[in-house]
Amino acid sequence: MDVVVLLGAPGAGKGTTAIRMVDRLGCRHLSTGQMLRSRAARGTPDGKQAEALVAKGELVPDALIAGMVSEQLAEGDAELYLLDGFPRTVRQAERLAGVLETQRASLRMVVLLDVPKAVLARRLSGRLVCSDCGMVYHVETLKPEREGVCDRCGATLVTRRDDQPETVLRRLDVYEERTAPLIAWYETRGLLKRVDGDRSPDEVVVALAETIEKGP
Ligand code: AMP
Repeated sequence: MDVVVLLGAPGAGKGTTAIRMVDRLGCRHLSTGQMLRSRAARGTPDGKQAEALVAKGELVPDALIAGMVSEQLAEGDAELYLLDGFPRTVRQAERLAGVLETQRASLRMVVLLDVPKAVLARRLSGRLVCSDCGMVYHVETLKPEREGVCDRCGATLVTRRDDQPETVLRRLDVYEERTAPLIAWYETRGLLKRVDGDRSPDEVVVALAETIEKGP
């Protein structure tokens, strides 16, 4: 069982690309943000506790996140897992290494989706997500075929609460402070690959698939 981590700022296209990769490669997509949103929607105690932090753009406690990820990996029902949104700090990267050891899985590579800052803010304002499968749309640049309805699964599209402008700024700061250091961390371990994410979703998917197939 192999794991590929998708690294990138909010709005870099991690979710957009990962869902398309699932349809293309049959791998599994593990999005910690999506897992938290679904727990909050179901009203589980940990989901409700995390909701306030998510709404403010802050990180939720490591233990909750690591627990959710290892639970999913323990199912072991795929050869390749795409991790989206985890790890987000160096401490989480260390935790991931421990989880992978326990599951006897290996980290094949970490792919950074590179997108200029100005593009990130534009993508996040006007973003819509499917309330069920997590597919990502944009009111101007990536419209669904039928307004308000997911092309992929037919569920309703919503605006994420943390896509409000003030929260977006906070999330971009949290990324710079806490997550961006992971780029150097993985680079020194020889695991980092870069993919230009400032292109159409289809082009990014092709580039990512090629990068993964080529191997480390
Ligand atoms: P995302 O869907 O990846 O943008 O995540 C949405 C929000 O969920 C983040 O802004 C955090 O509040 C929370 N979150 C997701 N993944 C993590 C993580 N690995 N560690 C801490 N908080 C997370």
